Amino acid sequence: MDGKGMPLPAGYPGSPSVVHVYAPLALGPNPQPVTCPSCHAQITTAVELENSTKTHLMAVLLCLICLPCVMIPYCCIDSCKSRTHYCPNCHAYIVMATPPLVLGPLPASLTCPSCHAQITTNVESESNTRTHLFALILCLVFFPCVCVPYCIDSCKNQNHYCPHCHAFIGRHEN
Ligand SMILES: [Zn+2]
Ligand SMILES: [Zn+2]
Repeated sequence: MDGKGMPLPAGYPGSPSVVHVYAPLALGPNPQPVTCPSCHAQITTAVELENSTKTHLMAVLLCLICLPCVMIPYCCIDSCKSRTHYCPNCHAYIVMATPPLVLGPLPASLTCPSCHAQITTNVESESNTRTHLFALILCLVFFPCVCVPYCIDSCKNQNHYCPHCHAFIGRHEN
């Protein structure tokens, strides 16, 4: 009853040949194509924004300066919120499998962890909390300067994306 010496049927039919390889990916701020670890479907994640500590901190700061501004971090500034990725298929919460790579501010040559192609990353600048904080400080000093931090790339995060599959590769934070 140990099955020893039992010959395997030729061709071994009926066995599923599809293997789901779940590449651990960093999840960026935008919806991105992944294989859902829960239902194993090829999905594009749905992103929900949640207020984070940053949001509240920002609101308190704004409140001290100008009370009507208090709602700004809750309504307007997406980067003050934390992003949660969900599977639109089975509504599973998609966790970040690996922390994003720490990359420089310039496009980097690497192997994409998603499509495994040799790529040079696309870099997109994104305003971060520091950008808004900097704007706030400038606003107190000299109001017309308020937009300056939004124009200075070194006040922003640089997000790296794969030009082939648009997967989020990593991020450079100043
Ligand atoms: Zn799913
Ligand atoms: Zn790729």
